[in-house]
Amino acid sequence: MKRVALWLVCGSALAFSQKVPQKNPAVDKIVKEISAKSIRSIVEKLAGFETRHTLSDTVSGVRGIGAARRWIKNELEKYAQQSDGRMAVEFFETVVPTSARIPSPTKIVNVVATLSPEPTHHLMPDRVLVISGHYDSRASNPLDSVSAAPGANDDGSGTAVVLELARVMSKHRFEATIVFLAVAGEEQGLLGSAAWAEMAKQKSWNVEAMLNNDIVGNSKGGDGTSENKYVRVFSEAFSPLDTGSAFRRRISLGLENDGGSRTLARYVKEVGELYNKGFGIEMVYRLDRFLRGGDHRPFHDRGYRAIRFSEVKENYDHQHQNVRTESGKEFGDLPKFMDFDYCARVARTNAAVLASLAWAPAPPSNPGMSVAGLGYESSLRWGKNMEPDVLGYEVRYRKTSAPVWQSTVFTTDTTITLKVSKDEYLFGVQAVDTEGNRSLVIVPTPVR
Ligand SMILES: [Zn+2]
Repeated sequence: MKRVALWLVCGSALAFSQKVPQKNPAVDKIVKEISAKSIRSIVEKLAGFETRHTLSDTVSGVRGIGAARRWIKNELEKYAQQSDGRMAVEFFETVVPTSARIPSPTKIVNVVATLSPEPTHHLMPDRVLVISGHYDSRASNPLDSVSAAPGANDDGSGTAVVLELARVMSKHRFEATIVFLAVAGEEQGLLGSAAWAEMAKQKSWNVEAMLNNDIVGNSKGGDGTSENKYVRVFSEAFSPLDTGSAFRRRISLGLENDGGSRTLARYVKEVGELYNKGFGIEMVYRLDRFLRGGDHRPFHDRGYRAIRFSEVKENYDHQHQNVRTESGKEFGDLPKFMDFDYCARVARTNAAVLASLAWAPAPPSNPGMSVAGLGYESSLRWGKNMEPDVLGYEVRYRKTSAPVWQSTVFTTDTTITLKVSKDEYLFGVQAVDTEGNRSLVIVPTPVR
């Protein structure tokens, strides 16, 4: 990324001498604390419940989804003890009606740990960040609640990422609410995630970003190839709420690659690669893989920014398969097929993004770009952030055909005029604080 000199026509409060920190050392510290060993022990424990199928035993203390969720809750409560009373752990229950994979009305139970922010920013709107994995599992038949379904990678891996981040982050004090979500009913139709997302929507919660981790712990593909140097981030371009004239407007402005979830994916790539050196993000421009779905969808569909992490090399012999051996070939989702160092790398990227956002200011409000007349420059303005530690704003821009931001200009002002043509570039603005935490980038809307 190129940090350009201040090629500006006007803008009175330019801080030429002001140094904007590139990174926050506190985020580095959190990233370093993520442990592959700890993730391994969580995955092995989860696989040890034999099945975590949504319709499996809820009474046994050692087998089935009931035992699994009580163990997850107990683990999160242990981590909560280091939070000075700021992290609360609870079951979030909902009864879902009969559907294709639910033979009769069933109670779906998510385990939720909520880490509250420091109350110092009480004048700010509460920002909520969500990280999720699904702790339910399945065998070959989606309705089989009895056969072994260890679900080590799908999605013991994502659940372990959520728990490991809760363990490390519960000791720290942030400026946004973080929700660590272990959901059930994913394999039966994204049911636990949908129930929680709907609750958030009904209560008008300001969910700023949702990170779904599903199948993130294997580096050896079923085709014999391996890859442990990057992870895929899936995001859909538009919200399904962008219909009719809203859709037409986005297309005509060339904003088809700047919807909320895509903007979040771009942030994940930038911040993840900055803090987790040597581990890359491959942005995939679609909601999910073919024939598959994930828990980010119910959030995205409700207009929230939501993305999915998934490993690069999948092995379908070890997903949604009964544990068995056929002609010498092993099937089933067992811990022995996983790469825990890889899973830890994915967790570190999540930690970097979540900690950065949780310490960052809110995104600038009401950004607009003047389209009052033809011109050779581009003028932007936005609302002033009220957080006391905001240093200023970074205005980002890129060619319309570029996938990531290419240029950055810092200003302490809330207006800027750049000597580049609005016809050829896309723009965004983000708030940055004194410690180098950056908000999400918000794309301006045209104003006259
Ligand atoms: Zn899954």
